[in-house]
Amino acid sequence: MRPLIVAANWKMNTTPAEAGRLASEIAAATDVAGVTRVICPPYVSLAAVASALAGSSAAVGAQNVHAEAMGAYTGEVSAPMLEGLASWCIVGHSERRRDQGEGDALVARKLLRCAEHGLRPILCVGEHLAEREAGSAAATVRGQLEATIAELRRHRAELPPDLVVAYEPVWAIGTGRTARGADAAEMANAIRAVLAEAGADADAIPVLYGGSVTSAAIDEFLAEPSIDGALVGGASLKVEEMAGIVARAGVVAAARQGARQGTTTV
Ligand code: PEP
Repeated sequence: MRPLIVAANWKMNTTPAEAGRLASEIAAATDVAGVTRVICPPYVSLAAVASALAGSSAAVGAQNVHAEAMGAYTGEVSAPMLEGLASWCIVGHSERRRDQGEGDALVARKLLRCAEHGLRPILCVGEHLAEREAGSAAATVRGQLEATIAELRRHRAELPPDLVVAYEPVWAIGTGRTARGADAAEMANAIRAVLAEAGADADAIPVLYGGSVTSAAIDEFLAEPSIDGALVGGASLKVEEMAGIVARAGVVAAARQGARQGTTTV
């Protein structure tokens, strides 16, 4: 059975002192059975968050990683540098695709570095509004995944077995506008189809939804069996929002577990 995952992407927010405090408060308010929590602060706050979360089951993630392990890349951070600080890593977030021009081949090389250094990757994919409106959303996401897989194969590698995919429609990120649960579920199925065609154990790969998720909006996505949680941006900076989102995920985790054991229904 796939885990329920709620990952917090704090983006370029929080100083180290603020991050440590916020992480402690979120960890305490979200200690719910059956939900994997991941907090992804800015690089400079990783140590503070790792220290704040020591002894908690909440994990620390980076928001990005460089595609090379070391070298003359001023200002960059590599996977070996993250060892001991983070155990997860967001890869290919649409803000980096937009602002840093990251493409699928580069994203694939970041996945390689994650695999080499024990970072569980959350690979972000998603279409722009024009693509959704043109009816080509699924083709866009398929293209992103296929190009990523092709680059991995060029390096004689496959998708990492601990991969998590986040379906994040670009038009829903930070806009207050969410996808419809049914559309996100359809995309999750399309994503798993591509992963299965590539030979991955697609049924075991969690697919998250991301895009303006709040405690009020999360239910629509968790009601879809193909969706295994959320990557949360803006709302993840608020303790009460995270508490609400993780609480809902906990209810769904228990219901899915019960349904699997045939003891209860959702
Ligand atoms: C994100 O940063 O991945 C994200 C989904 O942001 P928001 O929840 O603010 O839309």
